[in-house]
Amino acid sequence: MVRMKPVIALVGRPNVGKSTLFNRMTKSRDAIVADFAGLTRDRHYGDGRLGDREFIVIDTGGFEPDSSSGIVKEMAKQTRQAVAEADAVVFVVDVRGGLSAQDHDIARYLRSVNKRVILAVNKAEGMQESPLLAEFYELGIGEPVPISAAHGQGIRSLTEMALEPFEFEEDEAPGDDDQEGLVVKLAVAGRPNVGKSTLINTWLGEERLIAFDMPGTTRDAISVPFERHGQRFELIDTAGLRRKGKVFEAIEKFSVVKTLQAISEANVVVLLLDATQGVTDQDAHIAGYILDSGRAVVIALNKWDAVDDYQREMLQRSIEQRLAFLKFAPMLYISALKRQGLGPLWKAIADAHASAFKKMSTPVLTRLLHDAVQHQAPKRAGMFRPKLRYAHQGGMNPPLIVIHGNSLEHVTDAYKRFLEGRFREHFKLVGTPLRIEMRSSR
Ligand code: GDP
Ligand code: GDP
Repeated sequence: MVRMKPVIALVGRPNVGKSTLFNRMTKSRDAIVADFAGLTRDRHYGDGRLGDREFIVIDTGGFEPDSSSGIVKEMAKQTRQAVAEADAVVFVVDVRGGLSAQDHDIARYLRSVNKRVILAVNKAEGMQESPLLAEFYELGIGEPVPISAAHGQGIRSLTEMALEPFEFEEDEAPGDDDQEGLVVKLAVAGRPNVGKSTLINTWLGEERLIAFDMPGTTRDAISVPFERHGQRFELIDTAGLRRKGKVFEAIEKFSVVKTLQAISEANVVVLLLDATQGVTDQDAHIAGYILDSGRAVVIALNKWDAVDDYQREMLQRSIEQRLAFLKFAPMLYISALKRQGLGPLWKAIADAHASAFKKMSTPVLTRLLHDAVQHQAPKRAGMFRPKLRYAHQGGMNPPLIVIHGNSLEHVTDAYKRFLEGRFREHFKLVGTPLRIEMRSSR
């Protein structure tokens, strides 16, 4: 069964500290925070984690529901959409700026939407006992929770309050569950119009594919279990799957949240691109998220039936420029509409899945390591020559190889890539990231 990550939306007027809080909750690398209003106009999505509970955070631009200027309207729309996508809302206000008319407008809106709302009073460093906090009861949202996003105070308990009603699966070590590694959990990700629904409908319409009854679903998660040539799959919805009589049907309804949730639940993601369009910004964003998630990935270039020579060249160039970081992913040329290239796509999916769950024994890994070192030893760094002693597998999905030895902090990235190539070649790892960790004993 698939249980999707809960989604927390951060809303509030500009400059109250939403982006700062977003960065705290997601520890995102590309933190964009500056001391002026309205820098984050769009919605930003990030992964959050509290202990072993994972969730998605959405940050929105500011919100001024009653103004008529274009940007403000757009921001209000972004906020409404974020709230609609969220399971819980954190309404951020600013204790130093005090209550404003905008805060009241937002509060009125939030009271009308029937969602879990937590009121976070930000910039409250050193003000936990301040009588100023009580003022915010006026909003009718409930108890104000003092936090300091900038100083990291109160964030944990705020997050706990937001997540309180949601159940989480027990965290299982990879391979603990008998099912893990047997069922291919599959998601098709891509921006609108690349052909996701067409592909899914083509798949689900195949007679060699037996779709089972839909299991109990949680939080809108729909997944369709099926079997193909004896291999069990579970297709995790990104495209608005719904049941129509006895068959499933994909309806086009793009949702960033659904895409992110499906990617994190899947163990193989098919990144679907429109070959007639080349790689767009949106494609690259989705690809980046897949990479961060550590999932196995297969790139399918769809609409191959409609590609002319010029488009082919443009496609080639945009792949090299924008998807270089997914070099480990196999690339398939397909037509979902004309049912072309689907056999090889299934094979690539199965191979990527097998790679993600490959078992690698310590003796074999260690032998490969020694062979590699003999072929080309790591460079000396000053007084230190890294000594690579043995290797073991530290995890699956994605595979992790842990190398033990001495002075390993001096192993260069180039050398790590060299080792990765040797391991990949031997174990025939395709379509999965491979992580290598160096563990020095002193
Ligand atoms: P947003 O417009 O709501 O996303 O607000 P930002 O996250 O961009 O923050 C606006 C300003 O408030 C920035 O100058 C932040 O450094 C500052 N800020 C954010 N959190 C805190 C806090 O906890 N305490 C204080 N004193 N300043 C904060
Ligand atoms: P989604 O938004 O990603 O689910 O995309 P759809 O499946 O709705 O497809 C968008 C459009 O692309 C539709 O008009 C499809 O008929 C068309 N399309 C999908 N796959 C192919 C294909 O393989 N070749 C061609 N020529 N068109 C396709």
